[in-house]
Amino acid sequence: MSDKLARAEAEHAAVQVVKDCGFTAFPICPFEIAKKHDIHVEAKQSSKPGVSGFLLRVGNVFGIRYAQHIQNEGFMRFTVAHELGHYFLPGHPEKLFPNGDGLHESKSGFISGDPLERQADCFAGALLMPDILFRKAVDSAGTGFSAIEKLAKQCKTSITSTAIRFTQFTDEAVAVIVSSGQHIDYCFMSDRIRDLDGITWIKKGDPLPSGTTLDFNGDPSNIEEARQEEGTCFLDDWFDGAPQVEVNEDVVGLGSYGKTLTVLFTEEDLEDDDEDEDD
Ligand SMILES: [Zn+2]
Repeated sequence: MSDKLARAEAEHAAVQVVKDCGFTAFPICPFEIAKKHDIHVEAKQSSKPGVSGFLLRVGNVFGIRYAQHIQNEGFMRFTVAHELGHYFLPGHPEKLFPNGDGLHESKSGFISGDPLERQADCFAGALLMPDILFRKAVDSAGTGFSAIEKLAKQCKTSITSTAIRFTQFTDEAVAVIVSSGQHIDYCFMSDRIRDLDGITWIKKGDPLPSGTTLDFNGDPSNIEEARQEEGTCFLDDWFDGAPQVEVNEDVVGLGSYGKTLTVLFTEEDLEDDDEDEDD
């Protein structure tokens, strides 16, 4: 299944679950959804690095365990929502438990390349920030990191998952980049940036360009203590071939997650760039 189709399927399934559970306002509670479906949820110290949660199946009884090593309510809720994805998404229970019973270990939070994990992450984002409610909230939230922070509070979601979801709904030019040390882990772009002709998309492992984020990552206590910094840069510092437009660069440390979130944004029209050079 293509990424696009998998995302659409996840959106559709999430909307259905939210509707069936009768939610009409934020926050959407994944614990309540699990309870309604007789899925037992409990917290557990994970011993394996990177493992965020588990889905267990014994016959037709399901259980969820979520790791607490990342001390962040939003991330725990996302983890539970991810496991619910494996329960609700068509084909997931069959693929994860080919022998009926078993235990599936998840690496949620957009770090896994596995298609089932990616789709469960999409489901989690769509479940906690459902299309119609989130679209309205984005329209009145403003822009940049402060908008994302506001939305995360409203939805009780992690800053990272909210930022990623924000890129899907905003009309502005926004890119969200997660990095560690001197390298980029991943990047999500709003349509305004994605649709620019001739730009090179950021890949996992690309080096960070010099500037605010790279400097910020030079001091690990910035990340541990969840400090914030605001800077500016040019869009083509990050995306080769992009117009040389000045953009805001908001940076925040993600605490025990050990990574950094960068939000690049501008309300400028990105296409204006070379019009003056024609004559
Ligand atoms: Zn999973």
